[in-house]
Amino acid sequence: MKLKNIWRKMMGLGLVAMLSATALVGCSSETTTGSKENETKKTEKQASESTLDKIKERGKFVVGVKYDLNLFGLKNPQTGEVEGFDIDIAKGLAKKILGDENKIELKEVTSKTRIPMLNNGEIDAIIATMTITEERKKEVDFSDVYFMAGQSLLVKKDSNINGIADVNKKGVTVLTAKGSTSAQNIRAKAPEATVLEFENYAEAFTALKAGQGDALTTDNALLFGMAKQDPNFRVVDETFSEEPYGIAVRKGDKELLDVINEYLKEIKANGEYDKIYEKWIGEKPKQ
Ligand code: GLU
Repeated sequence: MKLKNIWRKMMGLGLVAMLSATALVGCSSETTTGSKENETKKTEKQASESTLDKIKERGKFVVGVKYDLNLFGLKNPQTGEVEGFDIDIAKGLAKKILGDENKIELKEVTSKTRIPMLNNGEIDAIIATMTITEERKKEVDFSDVYFMAGQSLLVKKDSNINGIADVNKKGVTVLTAKGSTSAQNIRAKAPEATVLEFENYAEAFTALKAGQGDALTTDNALLFGMAKQDPNFRVVDETFSEEPYGIAVRKGDKELLDVINEYLKEIKANGEYDKIYEKWIGEKPKQ
């Protein structure tokens, strides 16, 4: 399966309101009525502020991205820069919201930490290879789909594993990352296999190279990135799930979500999306 073929406020605000209310109570005996009123106004303003307002006020868009996934979000050890498809989308959004793609702060998330980090207010949005699922929709709101992937397997070049049927066997070990749909899907689709879950994909890939498993499973687009880093591995031709990626925001963050969806429409219409796609995905290695 060729990638080209599939080319087709709550917590944070509550906390701010609570802290401001505490501060107000704490200094009330020393303040005059006038400054009390000001404080109250300030508290009300903060409580009514959307994430989009906060981003504009602070002049920085704080985004949760991957640091260990070649092509999507990888920290370049030479330059210290984080680079990839998701990073270019994040920078484009910073430009749309704040007029400057550098008005951005990237924070590393893993598949397991990304939703908690969003919902405790550490980041404004998640742009991190994240599949839109009904289960996740209970915890976050998603943008429109911005990338389509499908789950597959990364194996040694000379492996005779060529699809999910070949790993659904006792004695076969498959590696993946905690908190991912990849872990859920592999357990459902290959119940006979032993599944080992790691903190992130870098650790899973290191374990694969060390011979701790027969295959690593996640989205094909991510596996292509790994195969590009180490040509001793290949991506199996078959995919066994659909993984539509979305940008996640806190539940009810409608203003931010509307801007994100507007941005995605714009870049799909003006060719910018295709440029980003070709820059990162067009370079898919030959197998
Ligand atoms: N797209 C899948 C997911 O959201 C796998 C990649 C990842 O773990 O980020 O779980």
